[in-house]
Amino acid sequence: MTEQPTKLELTSSDKLRIAWSDGEVREYSIRELRDKCPCATCREKRNAPPPPATSLPILSMEEAAPLSIAAMNPVGRYAYGIDFSDGHDTGIFTLESLREMGAEVTPA
Ligand SMILES: [Zn+2]
Repeated sequence: MTEQPTKLELTSSDKLRIAWSDGEVREYSIRELRDKCPCATCREKRNAPPPPATSLPILSMEEAAPLSIAAMNPVGRYAYGIDFSDGHDTGIFTLESLREMGAEVTPA
C-alpha cells in the first residue's frame, strides 16, 4: 500500500512540501525534481555524454527564469504529473519515487 499525499504546498518559490498519509513530511527542491524528471526525453538527456567543457549551454528564456511548479495533477492513485514553470510537463512522478526524493522535515 503506497502512502498518499495529504497536502501539497509550495513553501517558497523553489521548494515543494508534501505531507504524507503516514504523517511524514518531505521537502523537495524543485530543481531536484526537475533534474530527476522521469520522462523519456529527460532520461535520454541524462544518459547522453556531457558536452565538451568549452561549450556553454544555451538556455531558453523559460529555462533561465527561476524554476517553479505551475501545477501538479494526480495521475490515478499512484503518481503525480508535474507542470514545471519552464513549460516541461511530461514528467510523471510515481508516489514511490517521490518518497525517495527530497528530505524529511519536522513540521513546525
Ligand atoms: Zn522530463
